[in-house]
Formats: sequence, C-alpha cells, structure tokens
Amino acid sequence: MDASKFLRFALKHLMIKPVSFTASTVASWLTNIKSDRIIYNQYSKFIRECYRNSNRVAWVPFVYPVEILYSMNLLPFTTEVFGINCARVPGLIPDAFEKAFQVGLSADSCSFHHASVGIFAQNILPKAKIILGGTPTGCEDQYHSLRILSKMFKTKYYAIDIPRHYSGEKEKFEYFKDELYGLIEFCEKETGFKFEKEELRRINSRYREVYQKYEQIMQLKADVPTKLYEGHFTAISSVLVDFVGSLERVEKYFDKAIKDFNYLNFPEMGDSSKRIAWIGHPIIPLRKLQYFLAENNAFIGYQEFMESTVPPPSKRNDPIEEVAEKYLSAYSNVPIEKRLDIIKKRLKKHRYDGIVYMTSWGCHQLNSAASYIVENLKEDYPVVLIDSDSCNIKNVGEEQVKMRLEALLELIEQRE
Ligand code: SF4
Repeated sequence: MDASKFLRFALKHLMIKPVSFTASTVASWLTNIKSDRIIYNQYSKFIRECYRNSNRVAWVPFVYPVEILYSMNLLPFTTEVFGINCARVPGLIPDAFEKAFQVGLSADSCSFHHASVGIFAQNILPKAKIILGGTPTGCEDQYHSLRILSKMFKTKYYAIDIPRHYSGEKEKFEYFKDELYGLIEFCEKETGFKFEKEELRRINSRYREVYQKYEQIMQLKADVPTKLYEGHFTAISSVLVDFVGSLERVEKYFDKAIKDFNYLNFPEMGDSSKRIAWIGHPIIPLRKLQYFLAENNAFIGYQEFMESTVPPPSKRNDPIEEVAEKYLSAYSNVPIEKRLDIIKKRLKKHRYDGIVYMTSWGCHQLNSAASYIVENLKEDYPVVLIDSDSCNIKNVGEEQVKMRLEALLELIEQRE
C-alpha cells in the first residue's frame, strides 16, 4: 500500500467514532494546551462530518464568503487550511509539493497552493460535491488551483471575482453583490440546498459576537509573552475564517484559548521584553524559534496574518450586503495605503520595539508589497525583511531566520 493510500485509509477509519474518540484522547496526552485539545477534537469532528456528507461539501479557497454556504447547510472545506496542515507534517506525505507540479500547477504559484493542490490531488480528504474558486485574497492562484482540482475530479466548478482596491466605490460593491448572487444560484442548482436569508442574518450577528472574543485574543497576544506557539495563533485566525463547521465551535475554542493565557506564559519576561510585530506571511510553526526569541527576552506580540479574520462590517438590512462589504474590506483586498493604516492602527495600540516583514515563496501578492510597507515603517521602528516560506519546511533556513532575528534584536538594542 503506498503512502497516500495508507493515509486515506487511516483518515477514513480515524473518522469512525470509537477510533476518533481514542485518537483525540491520545492527542490530548500529546499537548498540555487545553485549547489545542479542543481544536483537534473539533477538526476531527468536522472532517468526519465532511466524509459522511459529501453531498454537502464545497472545496473553497481561504477567506471565502463561507457564511453564505453555512446558511445553505453546506460544508465549506478550505483547501489551503487542510492542504497546508497535512503538507507541513514532516514525512506524512513526502511528495506533497512535487505532486502539484505533476497535475499542472505552475511553478510560479505560491507554496500555499503547491501544498493544497499537492494534498487534495492525492484524494485523501473528503470528496466535494462542488468546487468553488475565485480571487478572495486578491490573487489568481486561488482561481487556478481550484480549477485544476475541479478538472481532475470532474466536479462542477464556479468562481467569483472579488474586486480589488475597494474604497467604498458603489460600482465595485454592486458588482460583487451580483457575484454573490451568482454563487448562490450555482450552489442551489448543483446541490439542491436552498439559500436561507434569515439564517445568514443569524450567522452575521453571531460573527459579530465571536469577533469580540477574537479581539480579546489579539489584545492578550500583544500584552502577554505567551508560550502558546505562533502556529496556534495562525489556527485561531483560520478557524474564524472557515468556522470549523460552526461559529459555536469557534467560540468554545476561543474561550479556552483566552483561559490558556493565564498559565501558559513566561513569567520571568517582564516589561523589559522586546515586542516584535510580524508583518506579511506567518511564521512556519517552528517552536524552536519562539523559544529562541524567549531566550533573548523577546516575543511576537502581533502577527499581521491574523487580520485574515475579517472584521464584521457595519449593520445593514440585507445580510448579503453585509457579507459583500465584509470581504471587499479584507486587508488583502484594500488599497495598500489602507493595509498600511490597518497595520499602523495595531502598532499604535501597544508598544512594539521592532518589526519583521516575512515573504513567502511564490506569493506575488504580499511579497511585492514588502518594500512599500518596510519603507513606510522603518523611520519609526527597526525592521528586518526575511525571505522564507510559510509552507514548505524544506525552504525554511532555520539558521538563516535566526540570524535575521538576531540582527533585529541588535538593531533594537542600538536604538534603546
Ligand atoms: S500566499 Fe499569496 S499568492 Fe498565495 S493565495 Fe495567499 S495571497 Fe495568494
């Protein structure tokens, strides 16, 4: 049995209740972080739900208007989130990245999509009834990679176009609203499930409530030198982007995460610790790097990637309009000056001593903005640029990243 066949077999059996119960109990022994246990559990529940109800599963890219799909009782399965998480586990699927080339993904695409196409192409995750693409983070990789998967699996495909550089223009707003209605029409036709306006209204209002807890976490992250690892914060953003099946689950996870701050911190690091704001791509979850920073009395207090969790828009009568405004205002879609304002607003709230801008392999979208952002922040902060890869561990030079961080810490000390 080859590796991918074995993994498919294992994942499916993991989803049988007694086996999944035992697996989550074993997983709980592997971590002392209570919110981690909750999220393992919730993800395994969600995957099980998707295996069992493939007539409701829609593969989607990251930062997609999933509220609409949930209001139709569909199950949005985010390809980047699941692809990256499988591809990052060393040795789990050794050829995950190479597989994406074999099925036609361009070498120039970003490594997030090499990971997601490489994993999904191996047919190990729950099958989809429909595949939905688009340009939700302002790049076309999310259009092409999902299209490639739909061709491979001969599954109906629909894409929405999200206008970029939105600054409240009526035409862009109306255009995107029409795109959302097109999405609803396609989903209703291909799945037989009906769009429920009142359910969407309920989801939007729950999102507002849950988002307040998310802001609480952002605040704690800025204040407390925590032992909760950086990958954990990436997960915190991801669950509010894809809902892991329901916003109730997300809320439960956030409540636990907030409590975790009480005991998972570095008490010896006081006010003199150096606070770093991490802009651009998220750090690959290298636990060692976080401890390396802690040894140098430093911690990451802000991660821009967490802005992927889009703030709720102001209330409107039409819930579709709320969704349209919300996604048009995502930090990756707004004009670069506005993105800079979002960063500066966060930086103003707390004291930060230095900034890292991290690029990731193949991301034209955020990489090309690096010099503009760095130029605009370097007068007020010591800044270093780190060229790395958020997904493929083989491209992350750990020693090189440490050297860049040491350079930043020296710059901070020179300023003090
Ligand atoms: S990493 Fe960059 S290129 Fe890839 S999906 Fe995200 S924004 Fe697009």
